[in-house]
Amino acid sequence: MSNHPAEQIQDLQFFGEYGGVNPSISDSSTYTFMTAKSMSDTFEGNTDGCFLYSRHTSPSNLYLSSALAKMENTEDATVFASGMGAITSTVLQICQQGDHIVASRTIYGGTYAFLKNVLPKFGIETTFVDFTNCEAIKKAVAPNTKMLYGESVSNPLLGIIDFKAVSEIAQQNQAQFVVDNTFSPLMFQPANFGADVVIHSLTKFINGSSDTVAGAVCASSEFVENLKDVNTGLAMLLGQTLDSWRAASILKNLRTLPIRMQKHSQNAQYLAEQFEALGYKVSYPGLKSHPQHNIISNYLFPDIGYGGIMTIDFETLEKANAIMEMMQHQNLGYLAVSLGFYKTLFSASGTSTSSEISEEEQQEMGLSEGLVRFSIGLDYDIKVTFKQMKKAIELVERDKQSSSVKF
Ligand code: PLP
Repeated sequence: MSNHPAEQIQDLQFFGEYGGVNPSISDSSTYTFMTAKSMSDTFEGNTDGCFLYSRHTSPSNLYLSSALAKMENTEDATVFASGMGAITSTVLQICQQGDHIVASRTIYGGTYAFLKNVLPKFGIETTFVDFTNCEAIKKAVAPNTKMLYGESVSNPLLGIIDFKAVSEIAQQNQAQFVVDNTFSPLMFQPANFGADVVIHSLTKFINGSSDTVAGAVCASSEFVENLKDVNTGLAMLLGQTLDSWRAASILKNLRTLPIRMQKHSQNAQYLAEQFEALGYKVSYPGLKSHPQHNIISNYLFPDIGYGGIMTIDFETLEKANAIMEMMQHQNLGYLAVSLGFYKTLFSASGTSTSSEISEEEQQEMGLSEGLVRFSIGLDYDIKVTFKQMKKAIELVERDKQSSSVKF
């Protein structure tokens, strides 16, 4: 058995209740105890293997959690009803009133809004910095910093965290290093390079069928137990519980993640290279022109590739919108947020998934209003797709020249 996470997922052997090749789905919110004593012991956390109530955990959620722990090479994992459920529970589990967080300034807009607008109500402050700049992180750390928070591949600017360097800063300051790995499952395992907690929105590549919302935290057994503690655990007490039926269907989709990630990566690499060669402003970690190309290459499982997300900066919002509408019209994908679908999804980040970030701050971080984020699909023949995309873009550009519309 190799250490490759794809092999780890493949090697899992779960039997259903009646010998089925898939584990049975647990269809109960509550569980019986043979004795009253075993019930009270379970509530005190002393009885291994007993289920008490499905908000705490359920067999189906445990199957999915153990597969995700294998994928991320962590001791344990637990699943949530959404990625935001995983993020908010983790942050509140780690930080108390009076604590401080240093976070990447290019993160998912919902996470940014939670850190910026909600946490101050609980006396927790966040300093946002460029996470590709370790000096900036060091400068922002204060004596009360409890957490360094960033995304492996940041949303939407695709900045890459240098895990080893950032984890060193965290260790030196007794802070927890929390990484959102939603954009890059299987590409690398941040826990191998010093991340204490690895978070996923399962809604994206891991589930891959854009039919459900879910999240996960992969971490030490101690941290996962803390999250589930009946008295103080935020997974238990905030109640962001994933339904067993959804957990079972995500587990089935997880099994095809390695081949899906390879295809997403191959397709994105091809499109990024072609559009860059045509002179478009493309950002993709697999391009040599990407500022952190060498850093990500050090951490990567090369057979998985550089992932399915690329951006093209069309400079103005009007032009970006016209191109996206044309692409949808030509059946080249959907004008929709989210990632990891079999069809390409595209959105202008500044007015969608990063709209929580003020225009001024967007400008400061280099997020242009015309930046389009593409989650490249599983297109069977990407060369044909490229020709069609190029034609759709050129159609809009030609229209622009012949009309009075100013892009
Ligand atoms: N993390 C990242 C990087 C995301 O892009 C998103 C959603 O877009 C989330 C977290 C939140 O996940 P969810 O929508 O499953 O709550």
